[in-house]
Amino acid sequence: MAQEQDPFLYALSSNNAWAGYKAHQNPQFFPKLASGQSPAILWLGCSDSRCPETTILGLQPGDVFVHRNIANIISPTDINTSAVIEYAVAHLKVKHVVLCGHTACGGAAAALSDSRVGGVLDTWLTPLKAVRYAHADELNAIKDDKARAVRIAEMNVEAGVKVLMANMTIQEAIKERGLQVHGCLFDISCGKIKDLGHGTKGGEAPGTSDDVVRGKHAQLVFRGGNASMAVRQ
Ligand SMILES: [Zn+2]
Repeated sequence: MAQEQDPFLYALSSNNAWAGYKAHQNPQFFPKLASGQSPAILWLGCSDSRCPETTILGLQPGDVFVHRNIANIISPTDINTSAVIEYAVAHLKVKHVVLCGHTACGGAAAALSDSRVGGVLDTWLTPLKAVRYAHADELNAIKDDKARAVRIAEMNVEAGVKVLMANMTIQEAIKERGLQVHGCLFDISCGKIKDLGHGTKGGEAPGTSDDVVRGKHAQLVFRGGNASMAVRQ
């Protein structure tokens, strides 16, 4: 059996191989990246290692501006999230803000539990606990633990989208240039992202329009409440 390699050294050698592959595949890839960024999407997601936004969207470096935190909690007073939103929306002028939760979220499970996580984590998860108490009847009626965690993750996205829709920078961009806000859930068990229908397009009849986001090397199509991806030639 081969000796297990140090994970960091493995990651560095993997990066070296990746950089070589990308440069070989497209010699202009890194010079173009180095010239600046104009991402079309701001992604607000969970820090969970199984939810790497650019990878699961099938997009490339330069396509997605990102802020991730534990359980993708959007608090209006969190200066970190607010600064990312301000820069992405007012300066980079992204076309879409995507808040994405996920199945099997540890933060969701912790918020559903009555035991303390410890340290600063209980404080961080307070907004999610508030979501739990506000929807106690519905959540308690769900007998399956996994299904209950999925439901609170959806409720968390809905609550987060409401905070986003109340953000003044986002409101101005919606009015002035048609910025779109989406609330989604990533299903780790199948790799697919579902649009939950909250945000600027909430309530619209499915299938009425396609919204295409063109990345540098791939395009993302929001169609009837679902996102799909196609590689550009
Ligand atoms: Zn999570």
